[in-house]
Amino acid sequence: MSEQPAFLNFINGSFAAPASGGYFAVHEPATGQIYATVAASDSRDVARACEAAEKAAPAWCAMPTEKRAAILDTIASKLESQLERFAQAESKDTGKPVSLARAVDIPRAVSNFRFFAGAIQHFASECHPTSSDVLNYTLRHPLGVVGCISPWNLPLYLFTWKIAPALAAGNCVVAKPSEVTPATATMLAELCAEAGLPPGVLNVVHGTGLEVGEAICTHPTIKAISFTGGTKTGARIASVAAPLFKKLSLELGGKNPVLIFDDADFDAMLATTLRSSFSNQGEICLCGSRIFVQDGIYDHFKAEFVKRAKALRVGDPLDASTEQGALVSEQHHAKVRSNLDLARNEGGTILCGGEVITPPGRCAKGWFLAPAVMEGLPHACRTSQEEIFGPVASLYRFKTEEEAVTLANDTPYGLASVVWTRSLDRAHRVAANLHAGITWVNCWMVRDLRTPFGGVKQSGVGREGGWEALRFFTEPKNVCLKLS
Ligand code: NAD
Repeated sequence: MSEQPAFLNFINGSFAAPASGGYFAVHEPATGQIYATVAASDSRDVARACEAAEKAAPAWCAMPTEKRAAILDTIASKLESQLERFAQAESKDTGKPVSLARAVDIPRAVSNFRFFAGAIQHFASECHPTSSDVLNYTLRHPLGVVGCISPWNLPLYLFTWKIAPALAAGNCVVAKPSEVTPATATMLAELCAEAGLPPGVLNVVHGTGLEVGEAICTHPTIKAISFTGGTKTGARIASVAAPLFKKLSLELGGKNPVLIFDDADFDAMLATTLRSSFSNQGEICLCGSRIFVQDGIYDHFKAEFVKRAKALRVGDPLDASTEQGALVSEQHHAKVRSNLDLARNEGGTILCGGEVITPPGRCAKGWFLAPAVMEGLPHACRTSQEEIFGPVASLYRFKTEEEAVTLANDTPYGLASVVWTRSLDRAHRVAANLHAGITWVNCWMVRDLRTPFGGVKQSGVGREGGWEALRFFTEPKNVCLKLS
């Protein structure tokens, strides 16, 4: 154990052991082995981080925007120059193919810093000339110290999606990455210090949701919580933070529909639907897990989709040809398998996949699962309604547009949705009628960081991205000036 890295907290500009002196094991999902430990922190560490952040806040907030933006730009450049190191670490920590971390996770983390370094320099507030002698103008002050809590599926990508706008807007941050995937947030904290981020501006506290997450959500210094994770956790956070009048942004779970009409561009749709179902082993909140296919092409789609899902190469995430890595933890692997058992009991037919895969060599004890495609499930059953968050997609046949939209909207969630059609009229109509924060038409996961990102219903409250994020991380103050 002594040669294994220990991921420590980063408080007030340096690494610190947790007050408890305790550590958890961190596993490499591809091998099932412990490869590191992480600080088992508690409310004492959160209190230290909050104190450091509070002390750093006045100077960070007073720093000219251009200078703050330059530091964020330097972080982006440093991260970009170490892309391979971060991609390897992300792949080891999560089980995702290193090719994906290299192409998506780390480049998008770089973009998050670069984008908000630019955005904050264009962020303007409103001025309302009310009459010839009255002028209203709105100041937007940083909130002070904010809490950012992120999940394990896209660790650095989602961590930076929160801290970049928070820092750009002039806040100091106490952040908690998932205890399951603590590596890259720890590496980033060090890199931020090297890039000139002053001590206390970004603090990373590791530990469980109950010990550290709740301490962040209830600490009096923290003015806002930006959270991404499961819906149940979001509800718990709202229940503790709302009575303390903290600002809340909640990005939660999904059960995203993909609507495929007869007139879709079949080849483009098939290739993208394979990605939207199984990218990152289906562990992306935006993955489409309910695939509604119009009657005329259902059988053809089913045959081709199953053939392509079966052909996906599952194995060592470090292998350049791997398309599906390991699931993030033993517990999650067991949960997804139990969801497949439930699907069978609920009347579903597993058309392919679902079996445990044992790759040869170093990954023989890893948490791998063959991508599964199902059909025949009633839409009201648990498998059709509850988030699985793994490499599992269900097919449903529909006849009319109305039927497809009604079924698509029939879940407690409303994060993302995808529509495949060549009809412009239908694309607009369906996009407008889907109960989701995001609709992609004839594409998936094409991102523009200026657009609002988030969900409706149990998929969340509030929006991230662009001005939405900068507004969330600032407090508007209106000044009404009467000229004499
Ligand atoms: P999770 O809710 O278990 O954990 C997320 C984070 O919250 C972790 O850092 C965890 O330690 C912390 N946490 C847990 N309990 C807490 C509490 N009581 N108080 C404060 N913090 C607490 O989620 P997960 O398993 O890490 O991630 C998977 C979930 O995240 C899925 O439901 C997925 O859909 C969702 N997700 C949503 C989005 C989105 O943008 N909407 C993006 C990615 C993932």
